[in-house]
Amino acid sequence: MKEVTPQVELIAETKMDFEHLQSYLDSIGATEYEPQATESDGESLVMAAGKACYRSWQPGLNPNVTRTRHDARDYIGNIINTGHGSVLEHSSVSFLIYNVSRVFTHELVRHRVGTAFSQESLRFVRLVDIDFWIPQILKDEDNEAGEGVALIKEAVEYLESVQEKLAKIYEIDERKSFAIKKKLTSAFRRIAPIGVATCIVFSMNLRTARHLIPLRTSRHSEEEIRLVFSQIAEILIERFPHIFQDFHSRRVGGYKEWYAENASQPYDKSDYELRNLERQIEKMEDSTGDD
Ligand SMILES: Cc1cc2nc3c(=O)[nH]c(=O)nc-3n(C[C@H](O)[C@H](O)[C@H](O)COP(=O)(O)OP(=O)(O)OC[C@H]3O[C@@H](n4cnc5c(N)ncnc54)[C@H](O)[C@@H]3O)c2cc1C
Repeated sequence: MKEVTPQVELIAETKMDFEHLQSYLDSIGATEYEPQATESDGESLVMAAGKACYRSWQPGLNPNVTRTRHDARDYIGNIINTGHGSVLEHSSVSFLIYNVSRVFTHELVRHRVGTAFSQESLRFVRLVDIDFWIPQILKDEDNEAGEGVALIKEAVEYLESVQEKLAKIYEIDERKSFAIKKKLTSAFRRIAPIGVATCIVFSMNLRTARHLIPLRTSRHSEEEIRLVFSQIAEILIERFPHIFQDFHSRRVGGYKEWYAENASQPYDKSDYELRNLERQIEKMEDSTGDD
């Protein structure tokens, strides 16, 4: 058994094609619009999508628009404030998340909207070594002799040896048929612990990211998913500062708990529900459209 820690890598994100955007802008006579150099492509796309809605690239293109915002922070801040969240769906990110358990992946794949998943197949990939993350709570609350963690390691090592023994008993390496190998591999995985470390490629759009970060870093979420989503939050908030401009954190139970001023849904009734409802009603009353 090898003890591991959950890891997150941002492996892909939305890229703009400014040349083709310019072709469109030329066709409508929008000569003044220039994406800001400080924006990430994902944020430029959100702005472009929003501006396409109202033809608000510059004043005069739409006679109803006399004033336009160009500063990304102001523009995207207004989108978030007014709840025009669908434009955030154009930009997406992909993570490779590894050294995570099937406890984590099972919770992650419950998120259906704006997500995509490709999970390591334990039907194909035979378990030899079992890598395992030991939750901090099991270390913090262990007895002085450390018997809890020792027992866990012993159990995982035993299950690892069972995999090896099963492979020998069923002579899996000698099998010619890949179909049989696959069936046996899939059958053996039933004896692996649910904490076995594995990997998953996880993509989501940035509207979904705004929904999931508060939900999955909340104190009410499981330790491993909090640990992973606190890494995701750090990466995305740095990469897309305008889209996450209203995010704040506080430390609860050893991890950062993130919350959004303009959350689409309240996460902690006592703290946010009333505040958010009041704010949403105010905004609906004040909202005058894009710019
Ligand atoms: C702290 C915590 C504890 C949990 N405990 C359990 C548990 O004990 N057992 C269990 O089974 N699950 C549990 N879950 C998982 C939870 O029930 C959800 O399945 C999971 O969080 C997915 O989130 P979501 O509903 O926001 O869906 P997502 O797929 O992330 O969807 C995003 C949003 O889109 C909207 N939406 C999505 N689908 C629909 C739809 N079909 N109709 C209408 N609107 C929709 C909703 O507004 C939803 O919030 C827990 C989750 C958390 C965070």
